[in-house]
Amino acid sequence: AMNKDFHVCEALLNTAVDLDSLEPDSVLEEKWIKEVVTRSGMKFRWAKLSASRERPNRDRPPADPSNRVPRPPVVTIMGHVDHGKTTLLDSLRRSQIVSMEAGGITQHIGAFLQLPTGEKITFLDTPGHAAFSSMRARGADATDIVILVVAADDGVMNQTVESILHARRAKVPIIVAVNKCDKPQADPRRVKRELLAHDVVCEEFGGDVQAVHISALKGDNLLALAEATAALAEVLELKAEPRGPVEGLVIESRTDRGKPVTTAIIQRGTLKRGSVLVSGKSWAKVRFLFDENGQVVKEAGPSAPVEVVGWRDLPSAGELILEVESEQQRAREVVEWRSNEEEQQKLQEEQTAIELKQKQHLEEYRKERAELSHLSWRQRKSALYRANKSKFAVRPSERTQSDELRLPLIVKDVDGSVEAILHILDSYDAQEQCQLEVLHFGIGDLSESDVNMAETFSSIYGFNVGVSKSVEQLAARRGVPLRLHTVIYKLVDELKDDLSGRLPPLV
Ligand code: GDP
Repeated sequence: AMNKDFHVCEALLNTAVDLDSLEPDSVLEEKWIKEVVTRSGMKFRWAKLSASRERPNRDRPPADPSNRVPRPPVVTIMGHVDHGKTTLLDSLRRSQIVSMEAGGITQHIGAFLQLPTGEKITFLDTPGHAAFSSMRARGADATDIVILVVAADDGVMNQTVESILHARRAKVPIIVAVNKCDKPQADPRRVKRELLAHDVVCEEFGGDVQAVHISALKGDNLLALAEATAALAEVLELKAEPRGPVEGLVIESRTDRGKPVTTAIIQRGTLKRGSVLVSGKSWAKVRFLFDENGQVVKEAGPSAPVEVVGWRDLPSAGELILEVESEQQRAREVVEWRSNEEEQQKLQEEQTAIELKQKQHLEEYRKERAELSHLSWRQRKSALYRANKSKFAVRPSERTQSDELRLPLIVKDVDGSVEAILHILDSYDAQEQCQLEVLHFGIGDLSESDVNMAETFSSIYGFNVGVSKSVEQLAARRGVPLRLHTVIYKLVDELKDDLSGRLPPLV
């Protein structure tokens, strides 16, 4: 929540026209304003912006709880490739559950369903894993519920585990859709048993995760799945304010016949034609809105997926959308100013914050290592593991054959998904004969100190992180391989190769 509040506040401050007359309210809480100001050197901006002497258009009223009305849940379908995500979404679109007006089908927005009992559900089509991560990296959440599709004939696979981790990190509850139950070799109970190993405990095993047996292909039990979703949504008490300045989230951005188009989810207010929106470095005067059926609509309220046409550039997925005063000039000014001045400064600030965090991590780690230096590396690792269960998911294996066989590594990522990576590694048995030893882990781009920390034979693994030319050169000089990935299973695959390369030759 902190992250989100911070980003919302930052975005609001960045797009505010006259910061001087800005009043803290429930969204722009004073502590967040202070945080943004200290973390991003806002001083300069305050002076510059208030010089324009323009009145702010968005005197945001405090979010009065009585203004908030229930909103439909936004659901993302995730799961291993070929387990039936696309088929499920297609059948949901075609099913009886879809509200009767449903006409054409667009491939770009998910589905907006209405149950016979009246509840509505928004299914997102596009996020997939990559977009989900990029949204998380920005601290933004569009998803309220994850439907985890697991094929009953295949069981839990690595992307299933990845999806669970995504959902967990985003603190989004899961509903399991055990798919392909029409197949003779389907074994739904096995699926649920396998999920136990990943702390997804279905009702059948005394947990609170709902599991629905479906056949996406035949359309069996889709209503039950929708009902389970609606029931969970009710428990979550999802609400939003349908009035006031619009806030939303870019789900997907693309170019359609040369024009930037986004799919967005509205999170507050009601978006109308003619609204002026700012998102990241882009802005829009909304020319057209399309609903999930590709029909032109006049407006879109909370939780509605909508296609927005009228952007000047493509905003990125995960970026916040904020409505500003309906004068193009002002929006343009804000955006131009943001893109020119902000970029450098922001990068600088972010780097400093990241470095600070790394330093703390490193200090902690060094301290722990020093305390344990009298132990063998394996004992040390067990001790470290016990002390840092949450940070180190790599479990010391009892089965290690030789202390020589180890792969020292450094793991870096963009927003703390190191744990997720380690967790995934944990689910592989590759460590049986060769042990991973995490020398260091941290957040942010690769730095020189990361490379300097690498020992002989270390590798550096990075997930979604960048590297500068000079760091790259340093690594090359020191002979430290950099293995940078943006797809988690590719990283894991390379790591497995790396490990097997160190195994003794078969005799
Ligand atoms: P995705 O990669 O998760 O989007 O998976 P798809 O929806 O593309 O499905 C992969 C394959 O599984 C396709 O050949 C589908 O026809 C098939 N499939 C999906 N759902 C079912 C199902 O409920 N039963 C059966 N028998 N096959 C299914």
